[in-house]
Amino acid sequence: MVIEPKVREFICTTAHPDGCRENVMRQIEYTKKLGNTEGPKKVLIIGSSTGYGLASRITATYACNASTLGIMFEKPAAPPRRTATPGWYNTKTFEEIAQADGYYAKTINGDAFSEKVKLETIDIIKKDLGKIDMVIYSLAAPRRTLGDGTVYSSTLKTVEQDFTNKSLNLKDNSISEATIHPASEEEITATVKVMGGEDWMDWMKALSEADVLEPNAETVAYSYIGPKLTYPVYYNGTIGIAKKHLYDTSLQINKDFSHKGIHAYISVNKALVTQASSAIPIVPLYMAILYKVMKDKNLHEGCIEQINRLFREKLNCGCPVVDKEGRIRLDDYEMNEDIQSQVMEYWDQVNSENINQLADMTGYWDDFYHMFGFRFDDVDYTKDVTLE
Ligand code: NAD
Repeated sequence: MVIEPKVREFICTTAHPDGCRENVMRQIEYTKKLGNTEGPKKVLIIGSSTGYGLASRITATYACNASTLGIMFEKPAAPPRRTATPGWYNTKTFEEIAQADGYYAKTINGDAFSEKVKLETIDIIKKDLGKIDMVIYSLAAPRRTLGDGTVYSSTLKTVEQDFTNKSLNLKDNSISEATIHPASEEEITATVKVMGGEDWMDWMKALSEADVLEPNAETVAYSYIGPKLTYPVYYNGTIGIAKKHLYDTSLQINKDFSHKGIHAYISVNKALVTQASSAIPIVPLYMAILYKVMKDKNLHEGCIEQINRLFREKLNCGCPVVDKEGRIRLDDYEMNEDIQSQVMEYWDQVNSENINQLADMTGYWDDFYHMFGFRFDDVDYTKDVTLE
């Protein structure tokens, strides 16, 4: 069949295998061009199939020559009509290319929150790798099911008060106002359960008890802070509370596992269009303006550029470059005073008429379609594709 994008607001329900392949190949090529760097040799990536996790897997492999075990939650195609999810195609391509290049690359497709997947992971590490020296925690999940069947869903809401601001209407690139309502106590608790650090800690406990962590192993979880503008919906909202829990968990891991030489870090990354971030209200307009300003100043980065900078400049072989709170700051360019003041100026002026001058709508949508394997110049989208 000929696969076309089917976009509904912030999600595309189809994915193109050749385009996803192109997306992965470009990230591999980018990393290879930068050459090798010192770094981890056996890496577990939890959330390895898209966005920051995929970029981490590619960078660990092609910058540090690492073996990688990935965990993802993706759907294969269901012929005759339903394509696989992009993460499924990305991973198929990554494994094919990495294995052909002589690297160890295996993936578990299952629920990272479950004990079953944790045990399966430990089994594979013991059999294939012995021990690992890095754990990247890059999950962005809408829900978490506990062993007893209780389901927690994460929400993207404010806390205590309504928040009204400009928002991008993704159907027609117009600007309107959006109001985000406050979450209930239950919603806050549930968001922390899903996106906080509890499961990261469960992973570290399970890996440590199974004795599959090298002494001095490092673990890194990804977070976001962003500008004051988005504080009500992000930093001070439900997701921000979960991210504070994730940060506190990094401190707890350092405390509980210091005798084993294990170090936990939070890396605060840049706002980028991914499946997780395009679903947050108000944030897409901020990202489109940020893209414009950062591209104008030649400072724009995508996931692969960010994560290469993490491995090459910030992790620094066990002696990471951190801020006062001990966090790695990959959002340093985004939060730069020059960048933020320009973004705020454009934010105040932007409306449906001038949006294409003040925001990088082409860049926003290119990134969005690329995530699903569409809009790559060198892919033939008229070709018949057999779903497998
Ligand atoms: P993403 O949606 O691209 O990736 C999420 C990954 O998690 C995928 O590999 C998916 O398969 C996996 N996953 C989801 N649920 C799972 C489950 N139950 N079991 C196993 N795997 C599961 O998201 P992303 O934007 O790359 O986000 C990754 C992390 O980076 C998140 O913690 C996010 O908060 C953080 N971050 C994102 C941004 C941004 O702007 N995108 C900025 C800073 C930090």
